[in-house]
Amino acid sequence: MRLLVVEDEAHLARYLVRGLREDAYAVDHVATYAEASERAFEHDYDLAILDLMLPDGTGLDLLREWRAGDLRMPVLVLTARDTLEDKVTGLDLGADDYLTKPFEFDELLARVRSLLRRQPALASPVLKFEELELDSAQRRVSIEGRAVELTVKEFALLEYLMQNPRRVLSRGRIAEHAWDDSYTAETNVIDVFVGRLRRKIREAGGRNLIQTVKGLGYVLREPESP
Ligand code: CA
Repeated sequence: MRLLVVEDEAHLARYLVRGLREDAYAVDHVATYAEASERAFEHDYDLAILDLMLPDGTGLDLLREWRAGDLRMPVLVLTARDTLEDKVTGLDLGADDYLTKPFEFDELLARVRSLLRRQPALASPVLKFEELELDSAQRRVSIEGRAVELTVKEFALLEYLMQNPRRVLSRGRIAEHAWDDSYTAETNVIDVFVGRLRRKIREAGGRNLIQTVKGLGYVLREPESP
């Protein structure tokens, strides 16, 4: 899941980005209206967290621009102004949820998860595919009851594959949703992570469910019978 955080308060932004990454989200951060306006159209974000008061504009104008440009990602608005008028305007413009500063990080995470779950394919926090089970809320993966210890990045990669079973996913598409701006196409970082994930699944007694599709990418599917 790739998130865009639009927040100009440096301290809060760092706190959000670090916390969200620890929870296995890929996170890009921008601090101005101008950057946010461009960035949101460059990537297929799964969700945006939007501060209302930016140094060069308002979050509400940004939201209006995104929706007018047909960006449909869920938007969680952060605001210091707890006024009914702002909330009503924001919701009218297409904000999906509101959080008033200061807030508890756990509450933010719960709202993020809940917004992401509104997408039909992600309705349940527990994803299952063959012997694999992944619990997005608990951040746990298991194979027939045996826990598989994954790093944050490995988890994000597996989660994305499990959200799209039997679909061939290109490296670009995987990067788009499970990585952040640190990804560059010249590296083989995704192949390295797929390799680690396969090894951990195998060591926990799982089969080879992450298959390479030559020239295209990867697909999560049942191994072909010999
Ligand atoms: Ca602000």
